[in-house]
Amino acid sequence: MAEPSAAEQRWLQAARDFVRRALPALEEPGESEPPPLDAVLQCLRKASSGDLPLGYSFISISDLQHQQCTPCCSHLTWSTNEFKEWARQGEDSLRMHTALPRTYLILVGYLTEGRQENKEKLVDGCLYVKDSTGTIPCELLHFELEWLESLFLFPSWSYIPQTDRTTTGYLEILMDPVPINPPKEVPHSIPVTYPASAEPLLTSRIPCKRKSNLTVAGELTRLGSLLHIHHKTFFFLFLECFTSAICVPVLVQNPNQLAWHHILQLGHRYTVTGLSMSSLKKTGQRIFITGVSSCLLPYCAEKVRKQPLDSAWQGESTHSSSLESAEQLSDSLELGIEEEMPTSTKKSQIISYVGTVTKILNVQAGLFLLDDKVCLCLAYQQLLNSARGLRPGACVELIGVHVLQKPLVSFSYIVLGACLRSTIKLKSFSRLSTPYQPPASLGNLYLQLLFRYNLGMPVYLWLVSLLEMFEERFSCFFGRLRLLLGSRQTHPGAAEKFLDPLLQAVVPEREQARDIYSEILGKVHQCPLQEYLPLNPPCQAPSLSALCHLAEQKSWEGFSPSQLLSPLEAQHMGTQELNRTLAWSYCTFSAGSFQPRLILLGVLKVSSRSSSLQLQDKSSTLACVISHKDGSPFAHTDLKGSLLQVENYQVIVERFLQTDFPSWEHLANLEYVRVKRTSVYVQFYFEDVQVLHAAEGKIQKALRSGNSSSLRKKDDGSLTCELEIPEAKVLKLKDPKPGTHRDETCQGGQSSTGGTSCVSRLFVVTQKEGLMLRNYQLPAADGGGQKLQHSFQATVLWLGRPHLLSHLGETEHLPELEETSCDGEEDMTRQEALLLFMGKSLQWFPFLHLDGLYCFIVPCCSDLEVFDKLCLPSVPPKFLSRSSCPMCLRVQDTWLLKHETWISSLTEHQLAARSLLTGMDQRISSIPEVLSNSFTGSLVSFTGEIVERTLCASPKNEKPCVTVGLQKQKGRLLASDRSVKLSVAVASDSHVLMDIYVASTYLQHLWGLLPGAKILFQNLERKISRFHNVYCTYIASSCVSILSLPASYLPFSSRPAREASPPSFVYLSSLQPHLQSLPRAQILCHLTCVLFLSLQWVCSLCNSIFKEGRCTRHSPACPSHTGVRQASARVLVEDGTGEAFVLCRNQHVAAMLGLSLLEWEALLKCVQRRGSVCIQHGEATGTGCAEEPDDLVACYLRSLCRSPLICRPILLDFSLDRKPSRILQPAPLQLRNFRCSEVEFVSQMRPRPSLLCLNVEEVKHNVWSSKRISRTSSRC
Ligand SMILES: [Zn+2]
Ligand SMILES: [Zn+2]
Repeated sequence: MAEPSAAEQRWLQAARDFVRRALPALEEPGESEPPPLDAVLQCLRKASSGDLPLGYSFISISDLQHQQCTPCCSHLTWSTNEFKEWARQGEDSLRMHTALPRTYLILVGYLTEGRQENKEKLVDGCLYVKDSTGTIPCELLHFELEWLESLFLFPSWSYIPQTDRTTTGYLEILMDPVPINPPKEVPHSIPVTYPASAEPLLTSRIPCKRKSNLTVAGELTRLGSLLHIHHKTFFFLFLECFTSAICVPVLVQNPNQLAWHHILQLGHRYTVTGLSMSSLKKTGQRIFITGVSSCLLPYCAEKVRKQPLDSAWQGESTHSSSLESAEQLSDSLELGIEEEMPTSTKKSQIISYVGTVTKILNVQAGLFLLDDKVCLCLAYQQLLNSARGLRPGACVELIGVHVLQKPLVSFSYIVLGACLRSTIKLKSFSRLSTPYQPPASLGNLYLQLLFRYNLGMPVYLWLVSLLEMFEERFSCFFGRLRLLLGSRQTHPGAAEKFLDPLLQAVVPEREQARDIYSEILGKVHQCPLQEYLPLNPPCQAPSLSALCHLAEQKSWEGFSPSQLLSPLEAQHMGTQELNRTLAWSYCTFSAGSFQPRLILLGVLKVSSRSSSLQLQDKSSTLACVISHKDGSPFAHTDLKGSLLQVENYQVIVERFLQTDFPSWEHLANLEYVRVKRTSVYVQFYFEDVQVLHAAEGKIQKALRSGNSSSLRKKDDGSLTCELEIPEAKVLKLKDPKPGTHRDETCQGGQSSTGGTSCVSRLFVVTQKEGLMLRNYQLPAADGGGQKLQHSFQATVLWLGRPHLLSHLGETEHLPELEETSCDGEEDMTRQEALLLFMGKSLQWFPFLHLDGLYCFIVPCCSDLEVFDKLCLPSVPPKFLSRSSCPMCLRVQDTWLLKHETWISSLTEHQLAARSLLTGMDQRISSIPEVLSNSFTGSLVSFTGEIVERTLCASPKNEKPCVTVGLQKQKGRLLASDRSVKLSVAVASDSHVLMDIYVASTYLQHLWGLLPGAKILFQNLERKISRFHNVYCTYIASSCVSILSLPASYLPFSSRPAREASPPSFVYLSSLQPHLQSLPRAQILCHLTCVLFLSLQWVCSLCNSIFKEGRCTRHSPACPSHTGVRQASARVLVEDGTGEAFVLCRNQHVAAMLGLSLLEWEALLKCVQRRGSVCIQHGEATGTGCAEEPDDLVACYLRSLCRSPLICRPILLDFSLDRKPSRILQPAPLQLRNFRCSEVEFVSQMRPRPSLLCLNVEEVKHNVWSSKRISRTSSRC
């Protein structure tokens, strides 16, 4: 024998080291085995035809697990070409993946059926490869019982590491292992058969006494899957009699027999010894149970001719014989799909199928895609086979699975459902480098819910889609496990809270719990997959970006600009007005406007850019407006960061159009729409919110238990004896259990004393200002420099002194209210502070509201003077003597804000604290107060309901304040020269209106300013117009809180019907007192005469007269080809109590003249040729309106105006025409002559008011008389 080469020497040394380290000699002392190394080498030589495989190296199990992090394979005996061919075939089967990379490793180890854990052997039905360094699960396609506990060389295998690396991967054994020691002589392998005794047993004629040690032989017709119930793993096998179709179930439940599951093959014959008979408690059904000593032996008797099967059993057993290919299956199914629609219950077919896994759809849910066509669902087979081996590229054989076509309408695949009677067999391993994702063994919510609700396939697939989406959207916020896990009784996880009610609604009377034994053993096949009712998903919870997209899409669906305009008004609009009216509109969708219904889910956050509330998920953010049904503002600081579910909400899509329609006639031509944009947000009530996952459990718990109980506690105690001085509190608080509840949110560095204690202080907000850029400087660390800082400030009143809390969760605040009443009053000024919020503390903006009681919590701090130390005088020191200036306190980033309650909800005993706030009630005015002449303030706050929202051109003299930063960040949706007029009323049926102008720059982040919404406006600037009208403008320090949401709206309504109640009926004589506050009223009057009438066509661009299809402007020439007709008239009316001028425009002129639509159109056509026609009654007023005496149209009109047909009673809706007449200035009474019969007399008259016509109606006789009657009766 030649001396080994150096390389061989080294290799041998490595082999020796490996054997010493990884392969201990067997413990049994009597064994006369050759020393392992020699045996291993001998075996290796044999395997690789004589030579030692010097190119390969040994690997131990633990090295494999720790060093190999990508899938790999090793083939000891293969040539390079063989491997290449093998890999190519694998890659051909699935194009998307590459074959497993080859490594050159030698794997030697024992095959075993359990893993060692804490010196205890755990048997779970899996097979393992082990050496002395570790144990790893393995999958084999072929297995013999006598291989257990023997040492093997594995010539061909793949290692598949687990993707998330928390546990180990597994081995796929591609070729039969080669025994290193000659196989042991196993006495059991001698065939022992008892065909004679087996048969009578199988016919079940023997009385069922507790017999044991029976032996049964038969053909394996069915092999149940491994089940794990009540900490026990077991499976059933079914042996069929050779001579009849009778089949008996055998329950295999001893741990050391679970490995049988790997060797049993359908159609083979077996003998099982040591059985005893038993019957199921529930049904009394007889089964065989294996005993400890039971053995499974191959049946090797002389050939016995099998009898033809009983016809009764044929239905079931024939299925296993026919295998369908994917093509056959889909061919037959696709035909079926067209004719059947999901209306009635369908029966599923049972088939067998062989296919290749092409994709793992969802391993936790047990869904795999086969052949890119059908979905395999293993969920009904509890353990999902741990999904080992089911990687893309693997070939599986399914025996007796149910075919379900389109069980869920939105699910695109045919589903093959494996029930407890189905057998899933791996036919070949994947050759591809695809990872292994193991299903969670504990807390698999998919399977838990499936079993808890006994779901059918349609609902299960819907559940999977909901849960997948839920996980995808929110696991980046809370972590997958925290979302999904949670024990049912005590703390259901977020996903469960979300899904439970939905499932309860879908599966109302939960069908009786699944009886798996009858599913497995029943004579008749009975399982949840047999019948199914195809399901249309009742609701979905799409990502926020998908929701936005849907809403946007819906808002443009069937959109046409003419919807936004009333055709009567549009006809008379010039280009500018027309396009401005189209520029801004909105539509509202409720949850139910989507099909299927959409559930809103999101994490509540505060936008760092706009400091407004928003919902967030992985895909996107969505601004939101939350309010309370009782009209209080939303202040739930504890909800920040929580996962919310809302089923009742409104999605608002604000639509912004840039158009250049020449006139209303072009509205149908969408080419004139230049830019279409939208902005989407949602609004809902707090009462409709369900918290699926609370952000900070502790604070929230404290809040819940805190405020109500501490309020009650004080109710019976007298005020004085309850008083505690702060020093006493400190002592008390220092002694509780030290070091408990260390909170993660503590970030040291707040104060040197640190620890877990915190300092808190209660305050009430007396004034809040809007967000604006202020000239404050952030600390140097923020690199703030001289730049203006986004900030807001609030004036607050401290209630009591700071308190020390032992930890974050503790709260004890409201009792302080009484203390303040004692020491507070003498130095009110020291109690007041100006809080300045900037940087991170801007997050509290949406939560802080007027009249709210809040407290600051300074974490990790025990310095009770922390607030005073940080206070700065808000004005330079020289002015400090003015004690009215409050101290300014910058709110630190780490502080927490907590809303406690509202002033209005304080109890009797706490009224003492309210006395502090006397005089503060005046801060909010009412709309009539602000409108009244005697009002003096310039900054006003009031609440009101928006009645109308219109876009108008900004008044030129009121340039919006510079908020350049905001504009640049976000694409501008409204032109900067626009502003919005909000007409606000005290209530929707009130006729007292206040107009508020908001420049478009401020509108970027003002959500919820919609007609119907009730809003608290704060710090608006009150102004008086040239015509002495009072209005308000939104300025930099203004802010709004939405108090209640609009009730509900028809989609596509840009301006909802304004009249909640009919206009009030008045007399002209009674008009004077109402002058300021009457937007719309009605009179019954007599048209006395038409004073002035003008009909004209004007250019849509420049307003010049438009004549015969051309604009008459010449220098410079106007390019317009569009004329707009306009009409106006001034008439005199009287109602017996007084007279008034009425100004009519456009279509109202026709009504006033009593012309029908046709007559009116014809008249306007005549005017078109002339450009304009106008007539004046009586004395010429010189308005520049030239009247041509011989014009036919003018003649006609003149005679019409003088005809008695026009001078008739009418019902007139009007508003006060405020523009031209200075109605607020008391005009002197006028003297006028009257003639009654022959008598002439002079009377003093008020000046005639000037009215604007809103509607004209002809008076029917009965109306006339009924109004007369009511008039006379009201006088009596
Ligand atoms: Zn079934
Ligand atoms: Zn023109």
